[in-house]
Amino acid sequence: MKKVTILVPCYNEEESLPLFYESLLKIIESIPQKYEWELLFVNDGSRDRTLQVMRNLRERDSRVSYLDLSRNFGKERAMLAGFDYVTGDCMIIMDADLQDPPELIPQMLQYWEEGYEDVYAKRKTRGKESILRKAFSLAYYRILQKTTKIEVLQNVGDFRLLDRCCINALTKMRESERYTKGMFCWIGFRKKEILFDRGDRVAGKSSWNFFSLFSLAIEGITSFSIAPLRFATVLGVIVSLAAFIYMIFIFIKTLMYGDPVQGFPTIMVVMLFLGGVQLLCLGVMGEYIGRIFNESKHRPAYLAREYNGTHISANCPRSLMTSEPDSKSDL
Ligand code: UDP
Ligand code: MG
Repeated sequence: MKKVTILVPCYNEEESLPLFYESLLKIIESIPQKYEWELLFVNDGSRDRTLQVMRNLRERDSRVSYLDLSRNFGKERAMLAGFDYVTGDCMIIMDADLQDPPELIPQMLQYWEEGYEDVYAKRKTRGKESILRKAFSLAYYRILQKTTKIEVLQNVGDFRLLDRCCINALTKMRESERYTKGMFCWIGFRKKEILFDRGDRVAGKSSWNFFSLFSLAIEGITSFSIAPLRFATVLGVIVSLAAFIYMIFIFIKTLMYGDPVQGFPTIMVVMLFLGGVQLLCLGVMGEYIGRIFNESKHRPAYLAREYNGTHISANCPRSLMTSEPDSKSDL
């Protein structure tokens, strides 16, 4: 019998999780008894009783598994933790707040049976979001698309079904600065689209704010493209060329008309402009160097504390596979 895993990263979802479980159960029970199910909840360092809720669910239902991370690592890394612990032949990634309707699951499974390896749900509408967030999102996807070679899908979140081959591919990508949405596109495989209306959160509140979205946006661009670096180079060439032409102009002007002490505003404008351009380019380089710095430490992307009631350090070494032993740490 094929096994289907529902992977749910959870951060402060004590109110939503029971509701999510109930509505998921309804759907699972409506599907013919063709599949074995696993509901894998990843507790991403919640500050409320989410872990307790997960434990209770597991006591009631043996299909429920849970993984407790040692602190809040963010959704991207919580998903990676989930990928490592999924035992199914395919998995469906869902949010705990019911913004991803479980009603789509039967259709996803149907496409999976037809041989598609990545069945993703595309939002027709985006639910309750501010106009500003919608506008930023639109502009962002445009920029991202222009700067990367791979096709990045617009209005597609993490809600999707992935075959085992995709899960294996994703677990091989161990960078700790993660932009999973881009990775889904990067790995390729046979993709199929489903359209849906994204609802609003059932309970709790979204843990994203403008700054976390902004940093995810920068992450997206810098982890999939070096276009900003190229932009810095091109800008440097253009500015140097302009400076060179201006230099010749000044040189000839001085020869023809002499050199009365003038031009303070011109010097100020040019200096400030060049200073600005230099800082901009340094900033762009800094973004990449920061990433090299973070990745070069080779830290595990997450640490887990407990898997289904078993303390990880005791007998579950899977999380340790994420890190190489650091020989220098003995010094
Ligand atoms: N989430 C997580 N870790 C975090 C933030 C969020 O695991 O640090 C989970 C959260 O519990 C939810 C999903 O990621 O299941 C989506 O989060 P949210 O609803 O806050 O995002 P939005 O729907 O506003 O994009
Ligand atoms: Mg949400």
